[in-house]
Amino acid sequence: MTDDLIEKGAAASLVTPKLLAVGGALARRFTAKYVVEFDRVHPTLHSPCWNWFAARSDGYGTYCVAGVMVKAHRHAYEALRGPVPAGLELDHLCRNRACVNPDHLEPVSKRENVLRGEGPTAINARKTHCAKAGHPLTDDNVRIQRGTNSRTCIACAKERSRAWYLGHRGSGAAAPALT
Ligand SMILES: [Zn+2]
Ligand SMILES: [Zn+2]
Repeated sequence: MTDDLIEKGAAASLVTPKLLAVGGALARRFTAKYVVEFDRVHPTLHSPCWNWFAARSDGYGTYCVAGVMVKAHRHAYEALRGPVPAGLELDHLCRNRACVNPDHLEPVSKRENVLRGEGPTAINARKTHCAKAGHPLTDDNVRIQRGTNSRTCIACAKERSRAWYLGHRGSGAAAPALT
């Protein structure tokens, strides 16, 4: 790290004094790989994203430390804030995976990170009403499907079952199980 701090190279010419002040304990080699979006301050975090423009993997910046590839945002957080507690991972509060601003990162449990993210589990978990009829998705009106973890509106399921029954009354067929 000491070598990094005094490293001089072509990339260092990109580093302005302003960037160095923001980068703090980060190596010049690191601060040369992101741009602080000073003119686009995050509305709720009240600070700009530091957008990594060097190598990325799955949207996350990657950075090489002593021959080992690490996640750039994690490196920035550990250099400027300290170690990430064991068992926790860093959540991007700004939802910008390329951002390496430690102020936009928060150590959370893996489960919490998934729930805050953009995957299907997260999006479903944030829905408060069913899409079909707008029933409130409270705990007593939601059935979690085993395996897929998808959530079913019980009010809608009952409605479907009732409609089926009315449509098949007298046919002798068995009503479908609630799903
Ligand atoms: Zn950010
Ligand atoms: Zn419903």
